[in-house]
Amino acid sequence: MPSKHDQKGDAWNLPELVKSFRPDKPKDFDETGPIAIWTEKDVSNGKIVDAFILILRTSGCYWALHSGCTMCGYINDARMEPVKPQNLGIQTEKALRRYGGEKVVKIFTSGSFLDPNEIPLDMQVEILKSFEDAERLIIESLPEFITEKRLEEIRQDNMEIAMGLESASDDILEKNINKSFRTKDYIRAAEVLKKLRIPLKTYILLKPPFMTEREAIEDAVNSIFFASEYSSEISINPVNVQGFTLVHYLWRRGEYRTPWLWSLVEVLKKTKPHIGEVRLVSWPTAGGTVRGAHNCGKCDKNVLKAVEHFSLTQDVSAFDGLKCTCLGIWRDSLEISSSNRFVLP
Ligand code: SF4
Ligand SMILES: [Zn+2]
Repeated sequence: MPSKHDQKGDAWNLPELVKSFRPDKPKDFDETGPIAIWTEKDVSNGKIVDAFILILRTSGCYWALHSGCTMCGYINDARMEPVKPQNLGIQTEKALRRYGGEKVVKIFTSGSFLDPNEIPLDMQVEILKSFEDAERLIIESLPEFITEKRLEEIRQDNMEIAMGLESASDDILEKNINKSFRTKDYIRAAEVLKKLRIPLKTYILLKPPFMTEREAIEDAVNSIFFASEYSSEISINPVNVQGFTLVHYLWRRGEYRTPWLWSLVEVLKKTKPHIGEVRLVSWPTAGGTVRGAHNCGKCDKNVLKAVEHFSLTQDVSAFDGLKCTCLGIWRDSLEISSSNRFVLP
């Protein structure tokens, strides 16, 4: 392996490098228990309501098993080998016992709900049916699994699909994120959803590795405008540091800083006025900590509160009056990225 690499990663094999950080053994998790269940606030029919989130334990994202995205450690919670359909049924029953009729339901797998290797087709139908009374039922999938035929087999009226586009730049998808697909694949899948009138929620990443803070803001802004053509909702996910990832490796060496919350605010303020009815939201994982999007420590709580208020109301005035002495440091740091170049051991 060469010892020096440049910013764009063309001196290394990025898919292999990302893979080298992953655990390689199947995990001994209990197949009958979901990864997590919790409730949070969301919006349905213009009202703030309770949402029920279920993360099923499956074999995990096919792309993470093959290589994976530079920032994603979800595979750490996956079985890494097929989970028996009856055990997926038991996980769902356990979740149903805790389901209190929340109007929004999100069923995630740390991969693609529509991947038949994670959840067999008849089990997909059964799980979705269990939540047919929810107003919004959101599942996630990579575009690879979104076809008209597949969706016709499992569709129900309340279904919405979330896709992690991350960036509208093919260059960034390839060289900064190591995504399994390109924008043309997202567009194809989005058009299938449009044809079937299934709402699309798109995730956009804020600050993949090997970018300055300013480049990260610009890419998120461009990506939101791009995705707004196809989506009913766009969620901005600021990168957070997850174990067994390239981002974690860089972060531990002091070569990656998670995005500033000021950058997130900037992205939301710059884009919301221009995307009409498309809802724009952000729920920063580990926000306000060194592993998540953060500012100086003093203003983080207030800024996160404003982001939450904005996400629920779509009102950009939520950001009016926010200030802190760290704003100057953030402005100075816009051009800095210590991970532009790094040396592997
Ligand atoms: S971000 Fe999505 S596609 Fe990428 S490795 Fe994680 S689960 Fe798979
Ligand atoms: Zn501050």
